[in-house]
Amino acid sequence: MTLISRNPADPADILVELRSPGAFAAADAVERARVAQTGWVTAGAGARATALGALATAIETAGDELAALAVREVGKPLAEARAELARTVALWRYYAQAPYEATGTVHEPAAGAGLLLTRRRPHGVAALITPWNFPFAIPSWKAAPALAVGNAVVLKPAPEATACALRLAELARRALPEGVFTVVPGGAAEGAALVSAADVVSFTGSSAVGAGVVRAATERGVPVQAEMGGLNAAIVLPDADMALAARHIAASVAGYAGQKCTATSRVVAVGAALEPLREALAEELRAVPVGDPGDPGTVCGPLITEAARDATAAAWADLPVLAGGAVPDRTGWYAAPTLVEKAGPDHRLLREEVFGPVAALLPARDLDHAVRITNAARYGLVTSVHTADLAAALHGLDALDTGMIRINAPTTGVDFHLPFGGAKDSSHGPREQGRAALEFYTSSRTYTLVPG
Ligand code: NAD
Repeated sequence: MTLISRNPADPADILVELRSPGAFAAADAVERARVAQTGWVTAGAGARATALGALATAIETAGDELAALAVREVGKPLAEARAELARTVALWRYYAQAPYEATGTVHEPAAGAGLLLTRRRPHGVAALITPWNFPFAIPSWKAAPALAVGNAVVLKPAPEATACALRLAELARRALPEGVFTVVPGGAAEGAALVSAADVVSFTGSSAVGAGVVRAATERGVPVQAEMGGLNAAIVLPDADMALAARHIAASVAGYAGQKCTATSRVVAVGAALEPLREALAEELRAVPVGDPGDPGTVCGPLITEAARDATAAAWADLPVLAGGAVPDRTGWYAAPTLVEKAGPDHRLLREEVFGPVAALLPARDLDHAVRITNAARYGLVTSVHTADLAAALHGLDALDTGMIRINAPTTGVDFHLPFGGAKDSSHGPREQGRAALEFYTSSRTYTLVPG
């Protein structure tokens, strides 16, 4: 099968055209990684720390070039692409310290003399299956912890982000021992082959594909985590700073054309917040700079494909539009940042992730009602709450079915050193990032030592 990756702002610009390597080649990459892994784990903590640090430096040195590549291949606005690269460097540096962390604990036996020890060890080869929207950060936040604790990794990037992944592999080849970081380009066939051969699986992508990956890995009995879609809500209370809330929400709806799992797609206005928010948010969304992702001022660039653009336009088609609601007449797959209202509970916008710059405004009687509206979605990744009342923010939200809560902040944006993940159909298995990732990529073994 031919794999083509093209510039979404200028679809005639093709970055990659190659024959997909196929399932057999993907399985073979796992076997080669398994051979390399034995040397990597015995090389020692210092060698692993140095190599991960070297890769951080290489990515930092190539930062401008890599950001430009993300702009061209996945249409990420330049300012966001630069921020993604800065975060990518920071997380390789963070995990470069991880090889020196304690790998176990010491305990007294329940009875008699001796010692009980626990020690964590790597699984072997990690299959990393990633989406296109964070082409450097997501592969890195999976690969860095996996490598730090002694696994080898095989990365299967989304076809739309192939050039970025191949460039990351080039940098990794120079910093890491041969064979511990391999990229297998391709699609479903290569991804499925990795899942059927690896010792641990980390997936990020849509909920539909993720459910199949989880099933396949679970059947084999290998550890699996899946970070999937979102249908995130912003809850606005009447006491919020409306101008600030509108700014945060507009950025979460329209930034990178809404193509983040953490984007806001439902805006729940509590009581008297509805009228002022409706005006303020519509105005903010109309003012979002839409255009060439290479322009440093652009906030909302193109959608990744023509089909994604068409699905976005279809999502608002039968609803009253408060802002946007148009497809700009220009080359590339653009949609205007859009706010709609009066979506019924079964409307597609309230049931399925659209992954475009569109949000529905929904009224709620009170905070409890807002929580019920928010929980009605089958996803539960992140919710933002906008209020001056910290007690409401902290205690009124206990019933929220969501993995992350952001108070007076956009739904988008997360620190790389804390656990990341959601509830319900947004996530499966242990969290990513931070120390949680180091545990996911290892298993614990218990030793009993008694005097001989
Ligand atoms: P996708 O599900 O179409 O693809 C994700 C990856 O899975 C790709 O590499 C794809 O080639 C691979 N794949 C496809 N079929 C497969 C199969 N049968 N077996 C194994 N692998 C297979 O997602 P996408 O369009 O690349 O990315 C957008 C999605 O990712 C959105 O739903 C978004 O919410 C989600 N996402 C989630 C997070 C998170 O952390 N929760 C972060 C970013 C993106």
